[in-house]
Amino acid sequence: FLTFHSDIEIAVAQTPKPITHLATEIGIRPDELESYGKYKAKVELSILDRLAKRKDGKYIVISGITPTPLGEGKSTTTIGLAQAIGAHLGRPAFACVRQPSQGPTFGIKGGAAGGGYSQVIPMDEFNLHLTGDIHAVSAANNLLAAALDARMFHESTQTDKALYNRLVPTVKGKRAFAPLMFKRLKKLGIDKTDPNELTPEEINRFARLDVDPATITWNRVVDTNDRFLRKIVVGKGEAEKGFELTDLKDMRERLGAMVVATSKRGEPITADDIGVGGALAVLMKDAIKPNLMQTLEGTPVFVHAGPFANIAHGNSSILADRIALKLAGTEPGETDSTREGYVLTEGGFGADMGMEKFCNIKCRVSGLTPDAVVIVATTRALKMHGGGPEVTPGKPLADTYTKEDLETLGVGIGNLERHIENAKKFGLKVIVGVNQFSSDSSAELELICSRAMQAGADAAVVSNHWALGGAGAKDLAEAVVAACEGESTFKFLYPLDIPIVDKISAIAKEIYRADGIELSELARSQVELYEKQGYGNLPICMAKTQYSFSHDPKLKGTPTGFTVPIRAVRLSAGAGFLYPLLGDMQTMPGLSTRPGFWEVGLDEETGRVVGLF
Ligand code: ADP
Repeated sequence: FLTFHSDIEIAVAQTPKPITHLATEIGIRPDELESYGKYKAKVELSILDRLAKRKDGKYIVISGITPTPLGEGKSTTTIGLAQAIGAHLGRPAFACVRQPSQGPTFGIKGGAAGGGYSQVIPMDEFNLHLTGDIHAVSAANNLLAAALDARMFHESTQTDKALYNRLVPTVKGKRAFAPLMFKRLKKLGIDKTDPNELTPEEINRFARLDVDPATITWNRVVDTNDRFLRKIVVGKGEAEKGFELTDLKDMRERLGAMVVATSKRGEPITADDIGVGGALAVLMKDAIKPNLMQTLEGTPVFVHAGPFANIAHGNSSILADRIALKLAGTEPGETDSTREGYVLTEGGFGADMGMEKFCNIKCRVSGLTPDAVVIVATTRALKMHGGGPEVTPGKPLADTYTKEDLETLGVGIGNLERHIENAKKFGLKVIVGVNQFSSDSSAELELICSRAMQAGADAAVVSNHWALGGAGAKDLAEAVVAACEGESTFKFLYPLDIPIVDKISAIAKEIYRADGIELSELARSQVELYEKQGYGNLPICMAKTQYSFSHDPKLKGTPTGFTVPIRAVRLSAGAGFLYPLLGDMQTMPGLSTRPGFWEVGLDEETGRVVGLF
């Protein structure tokens, strides 16, 4: 029976079509495509200029209930739905997903290409190096860390004058500022263009960044759960707006604006102050272009950027979504509404994480308006929220997960109801997609759907795309199409121009249902500093456990009566958000005693990758 095959067996049994064919089918011109081998390609940003006049397709975010170790199948549903709309309803459909990090791939989860008959292929390439974007991010990140360390070293060993003479050397009898230095002069309020005219006091301020070592927030990264590097903060500036050159310029500015420390004088020290912003942009110039791949049924998938949804914003890139929305869009004057297509973009973890950040951060930066959210749920995960026992790896699942148990399920549905109510607060149409497992009973599936409708969902549909591919998600696809008719009533949860603490509190109360928040002394002083430095108007990217609405991963279901402790608040000035750390949330996971990589290897006979499930 088909479903006995593992994800990777199903994936390699299907030969993908050449990526150049897929590109032609969806209207990408040859000069807009840069192939990386046979089945992957980058898409030039110039396509946005060519398609600028088109009306965007419909924009749907795929989210889920609070995750459990049993898995909910958000990626599988994103791909299944794209296959259903694209290959079975005959409408343009694009899936936009993140590139998986090596952390989970070799740590706990395995791949993230979907599963069963709803997958991105070739799945091993998708899960590993792809086109090298994550390597480029690591290289850029580590160059900045090295540049900061080197600068601090040189400042500690040289006088002001020696430092200045090396920073602004005399070449062929002439001393000139590097172009990037004018930015720093402007920041310091020094209105001079001739390097010989600076006073000793100005030379001191210009040449000496005077980093306070205790304030450094920038460290080395590797894309692996490396316990050795626990102290690391990953800040990936991925949000863009405007067209090709504007996008490059925006990326360049964001990279330069990244704050790595505070000086002893209290000013934020940026990548541009260290002179490395331009070099970072060079390292990232290809990574900014979205990657095109395909589903098992030959429909398009954009894979771009890979932030986690617990400690980062958890969404794929705005550029990939924008290109997909134009390719799925209609020409001005087009009257045939069946030509309008759909973009299915995935927000990581539960709707309290990826979806909240999609709405309040990603859509705020992009200016794009979502039409609907699909909330993925499974009977098994809901049962765990209803009090079902923890699972022990290697041990058979408890009866509640494999047999009908309406009572436990009924309690657990509370978690789904809360996510539905939350999504409604953003003015979105809500479609619940119940990802069917073979052991689900029809009474269980009906209970989830009827309770979801009572909680305010616009539709609740059972979907069997894991076993049947796109054909199994046709009903869900039709529900999505129907929900997207009419104008969007999307709105943000909080305005930007209120105090930082009020924004954090709005998310904690409205989305997590906390009684309130409690800031540590450190968090309080950080909030004060950011407001003073001019970063008070940024949106909030909560760093919270994904396993609970609350900050405590043990509180499943629908916790109430808790106060959220804010341990610290950090700044991602390049990306453009502030991120509070809730409870004891770690920003760098470590590998466990028995990581997933034990299973991964090359088959000796075929040379194929095995063990990436
Ligand atoms: P998420 O995106 O929510 O983390 P995934 O889509 O990556 O979840 O799915 C996690 C795992 O569960 C995958 O290995 C996938 O094959 C499996 N899975 C998903 N849906 C089903 C299903 N309906 N039946 C059996 N296994 C499933």
